[in-house]
Amino acid sequence: MKKIYITRKIPDVGIKMLLEKGYEVDVNTKDRPLEKKELIKILKKNSYDAVLTLLTDIIDAEVMDSAPTVKIYANFAIGFNNLDIEAAKARGVYLTNTPNGGAERVAEHTWALILALTCRIVEGDSYIRNGKYNGWDPMLLHGERIEGKTLGIIGTGRIGANVARKGRFGFGMNVAYYDVKRNEELEKEDGAKFYPTVEEVLKISDIVSLHVPLMDSTHHLINIDRLKMMKPSAYLINTSRGPVIDENDLVYALKNKIIKGAGLDVFEFEPKLVSGLAKLSDVVITPHIASATEEARLEMSKVSAQNIIDCMGGVIPRNNVLK
Ligand code: NAD
Repeated sequence: MKKIYITRKIPDVGIKMLLEKGYEVDVNTKDRPLEKKELIKILKKNSYDAVLTLLTDIIDAEVMDSAPTVKIYANFAIGFNNLDIEAAKARGVYLTNTPNGGAERVAEHTWALILALTCRIVEGDSYIRNGKYNGWDPMLLHGERIEGKTLGIIGTGRIGANVARKGRFGFGMNVAYYDVKRNEELEKEDGAKFYPTVEEVLKISDIVSLHVPLMDSTHHLINIDRLKMMKPSAYLINTSRGPVIDENDLVYALKNKIIKGAGLDVFEFEPKLVSGLAKLSDVVITPHIASATEEARLEMSKVSAQNIIDCMGGVIPRNNVLK
């Protein structure tokens, strides 16, 4: 009988799919991510065939070597920067993700951050709740109009392209983008303009939104040098992965008015924030919830389970990321 380990409670639907196949399924009973040494201990004690992982689990060579019977680590996430691709390739282990689990919703959340900043929603809300509102005031909490301004997208895959379309057709923005691969559909159908470097997009944009995967080439893609290229009136949005921005540099840039504000769903040292970030008023922060809907979590549960079922059935799992 195949034995599956799930590193944290997920919606039942995926667990049922695995049980219906006759697999034995163990789920971490702690309501928190496992530390690496805890996971290694569990894997060493049991001969699992597959592990369903979350983005908080670091699956590297050491973890893989502690579980030589595991044939697949099926991530319950769109991103897979927590999985060591080279280590998996070297050991013949499959790695998968859930690419359609919540991409549209992440784009919607990105827009929620943009509008919260430009319409000063969070500041306005706390202003009233703190009893400061004494009636209409022509000088109160001026925001920014976005129609006719430039939205810069870095990374125009599933999420970045969706954010771009909403900007173009929902809010009448001009879209500038940089990606290592040109997105011709976005250019032809949605009027997005390609720029051959990140720097050019940063210089001309009023809002810059990051949608790249976290890899060596995108780690600290935004640092102080690049923040200095942005307009002092510009906003930076990040719903991709925290380490894409040097968060200390961002705090410095915001404190010194190098850029106007930031909307962040992800953080470099999650769940910790670097000192000073949470005190800044031109920043809107959410706790990595950009894909958090019931539909998305159900889809992620089903897809990660299906990837395991594919692999256990001897076929290449449909969302294999080792290409
Ligand atoms: P995707 O693979 O469809 O798109 C990523 C795009 O980035 C691709 O077009 C790729 O060519 C481009 N890219 C890669 N390296 C680049 C570089 N160095 N410079 C510029 N562009 C580069 O991925 P997606 O589904 O759009 O998701 C993007 C990321 O969003 C994921 O990798 C994940 O980390 C993150 N994400 C976050 C949440 C959240 O809850 N906040 C949820 C889902 C996904």
